[in-house]
Amino acid sequence: MNTHVKPSLYVTAPVNALVEGIYQEDVTMTELLEQGDFGIGTFNHLDGEMIVVDGHIYQLRADGLAYAVPPTTRTPFACVTYFKPYSVEEITQPLDYAGFSALLDRLLPSKNMLYAIRIDGRFDYARTRSVPRQDSVRPLVEVAREQPEFEFTEVDGCLVGFWTPHFLQSVVVPGYHFHFLTDDKQHGGHLLECRPSQVRISLQHIPSLKLGLPLTLDYLTADLARDIHADLEEAEK
Ligand code: ZN
Repeated sequence: MNTHVKPSLYVTAPVNALVEGIYQEDVTMTELLEQGDFGIGTFNHLDGEMIVVDGHIYQLRADGLAYAVPPTTRTPFACVTYFKPYSVEEITQPLDYAGFSALLDRLLPSKNMLYAIRIDGRFDYARTRSVPRQDSVRPLVEVAREQPEFEFTEVDGCLVGFWTPHFLQSVVVPGYHFHFLTDDKQHGGHLLECRPSQVRISLQHIPSLKLGLPLTLDYLTADLARDIHADLEEAEK
């Protein structure tokens, strides 16, 4: 990594395209790891949730298990950065999800910046989902209605994710977006809810954005003019 370059969030493709059902693109895991060691996303055919932590990529499939990912696997949508936290906060009392979200809100100096957020420790409860592989094209919002969910209690794990300002909603999922991986690296998924009890919150602000625009025929010929806000709200919450 060139240390003279400002940290940036690399997004492989605008999230609009994913919401409209473009589930196959060309960015490989090798190429993704050249842009960062920390992040989240999905895989071609929407085959599970991606979590990138400490430079390792895990695939959290709809069977609830985590898999190693071959370097040639491709993604239609992922966001990564090089994680270098500028602040660390220790939380030693249980928080419900509303309390947890409020705490994160207080830790972000400005909502108009991008942040990478990593949370390690003990969770009294976590609920996740993983999208099931799609071999035909259906809009993301329909797929999300059938996603399997997983519950964890008294679990040690890691949340990897981002805060994205709402004005970037056609590029990246707006608001907080976390994926979860248990410490034994066996389970996880897209976070729907959690109650942390003893965790360390590491934060990094990211002052720039690098957006990939795919060259596939599907992408080049797609109509991406639709306002996808309502679909994204339903699919990602
Ligand atoms: Zn997700």
